[in-house]
Amino acid sequence: MPRKLFVTTALPYANAPFHIGHMMEYIQADTWVRAQRMRGAEVNFVCADDAHGAPIMIAAEKVGQTPQQFVAGIAAGRPQYLEGFHIAFDNWHSTDGPENHRLAQDIYLGLRKNELIDVRSIEQFFDPVKGMFLPDRYIKGECPKCGAKDQYGDSCESCGAVYAPTDLKNPYSALSGAVPVRKSSEHYFFRLSDPRCVAFLEQWTQDGKLQPEVANKIREWFTKAEDGSGGLGDWDISRDAPYFGIEIPDAPGKYFYVWLDAPVGYLASLTHLFARRGHDVDAYLADPAVEQVHFIGKDIVYFHTLFWPAMLHFSGRKVPNHVFVHGFITVGGEKMSKSRGTGLSPLRYLELGLNPEWLRYYIAAKLNARVEDVEFNPEDFVARVNSDLIGKYINIASRAAGFLTKRFAGKLSADLGVEGRVLLDTLRAHRATIEQLYEEREFGKAVREIMQLADRVNEYVDQHKPWELAKQDRPADAGPPQGGGTPSAGGAAGAGASSVALHDVCSVCIEAFRVLTIYLKPILPALAAQVEAFLKVAPMDFADAARALGHHTIGEYKHLMQRVDAKQMDALFEPPQAARVEPGGEPIADEIGIDDFSRVDLRIARIVNAELVEGSDKLLRLTLDVGEGRHRNVFSGIRSAYKPEDLIGKFTVMVANLAPRKMKFGLSEGMVLAASHADGKANPGLFVLEPHPGAQPGMRVR
Ligand SMILES: [Zn+2]
Repeated sequence: MPRKLFVTTALPYANAPFHIGHMMEYIQADTWVRAQRMRGAEVNFVCADDAHGAPIMIAAEKVGQTPQQFVAGIAAGRPQYLEGFHIAFDNWHSTDGPENHRLAQDIYLGLRKNELIDVRSIEQFFDPVKGMFLPDRYIKGECPKCGAKDQYGDSCESCGAVYAPTDLKNPYSALSGAVPVRKSSEHYFFRLSDPRCVAFLEQWTQDGKLQPEVANKIREWFTKAEDGSGGLGDWDISRDAPYFGIEIPDAPGKYFYVWLDAPVGYLASLTHLFARRGHDVDAYLADPAVEQVHFIGKDIVYFHTLFWPAMLHFSGRKVPNHVFVHGFITVGGEKMSKSRGTGLSPLRYLELGLNPEWLRYYIAAKLNARVEDVEFNPEDFVARVNSDLIGKYINIASRAAGFLTKRFAGKLSADLGVEGRVLLDTLRAHRATIEQLYEEREFGKAVREIMQLADRVNEYVDQHKPWELAKQDRPADAGPPQGGGTPSAGGAAGAGASSVALHDVCSVCIEAFRVLTIYLKPILPALAAQVEAFLKVAPMDFADAARALGHHTIGEYKHLMQRVDAKQMDALFEPPQAARVEPGGEPIADEIGIDDFSRVDLRIARIVNAELVEGSDKLLRLTLDVGEGRHRNVFSGIRSAYKPEDLIGKFTVMVANLAPRKMKFGLSEGMVLAASHADGKANPGLFVLEPHPGAQPGMRVR
């Protein structure tokens, strides 16, 4: 019986495009899923946009859209990332879909039937300026557990604690800046402190299905202090209107808190997929052989290992079999934050034409099964791609394929010689280990194992030197052909010992390359497809490693993968260029709607300070005031046109909602606008925009 897997990645919040942290999780899960499929498993791999909640409601209002329009715009941007990095979800859905409304309400009613829902009047923060209850994410203050500043009202990004907004120290409204007042309202609670829930979760979280460090962390959450504090608290699952979400049955004006219906989106997406196929999702989930597997980041462990299994169990549903937790991706040591981003933009990566499989390979090479952060280091990236991926692996094919095509019409030798057969047996003997490393999400170890095998193949190539064998046996230079005939098309018939050796050595290389390609295929699916076309073989699974190609004819070798140029890494981390517009000569860009334009938040900025940047002849470091009560740091490529002292005190226009970009010199938090010709070299001149007198910092440009 094939293994049956239902696999998800965490639902991304639909208020922004993907960042590199999302791509790392998707690459991890996609690699695992591909490896499972290559072992014969039946996998349903789904995800969805997390579409509800106050932040989306407020963001939509800001740009004059309904929340539905807003999340549809975000959803439309998803495929370019997913296809771009070869992430092969079977379905992508939305938590605002009808399946999710129905499922979330059903689960709630199941919990209510089990007497696990309470209604209590609680005091909440109310923004007296905006006249509304403040959503968790719009109250900021200091974490009650660790004291970290600028934390949101629901959980701490620094220590991972989950708490009520009223627990924050020195709270303020992020909408108006006002100090919020307390006001009462009726709220619905999931009684997680109920002894049945505690007993179930103590068992479920500690029976070996979670990583040890995750299980240990959770054990702390169960622990009650001597004064009775700590332990599992009840969970506030309701929010007052106005709210973009799912209505709570029999509770007018009350909506499910977004974190209640978000994980339900896993089931909604699966349900949507099965409906599309005309299959019965209930029968599938009732099958005890189906394993439910969630890949998540370490910041949402609480939601996925306490709330989620308890919601499922006490509404009579299947509970997860595994929750695989990964760390964050850091760039230059800086933590990837969902809300703040880093300088490594996955879209810019693709736009610059960098090979998506370089990133898949690099991330895989750094991942293990533990909850550890992954550091993206540009120099390390270049080294691993060029010396390992290209130098050790791709080169095996490029060194052998040409001789096979030119001398032997692409036909492989089936003999291969003793040493060749021993080498190939060694490669094949590692298959079980490599499959197991994929299974355990020890991708870094799998890559090391595969590269060590590639080293052995390269040693074999260096010992047998096909290029020298080819010189010794060069049909065209070999003088008058014996017997007066010309060499046959294959060249091998009746050829000398060196020709036979050349044929065997090159055939061993191609066979070894094929086996290594199978081992790397979960990480490099597009490259593997190219290799399959080149070798003229059907799509390969792990089991194909055991088979030999034998008397097989391969296709012509075409270059499979470029080296990465260090300059491409520089471009990836460069600040965005000043916006360029040229009415004459440069074509007007594609038409956009007012909605597209309004997504770009242009603001008047005062240049508080400008200074040279040591180590850069293009950049100036600008300190900008856009009326936020803090200053922004922006690197701008305008040094050729301006002296710092010419700019200080002037006003200009900046893109205020551009994702911050981490650069060699620091974080750049926006972009100032300047006019120039498309070809700055032939037509020099760069002109920073300046508003008419009277404009004030923070005014929006529309
Ligand atoms: Zn904290």
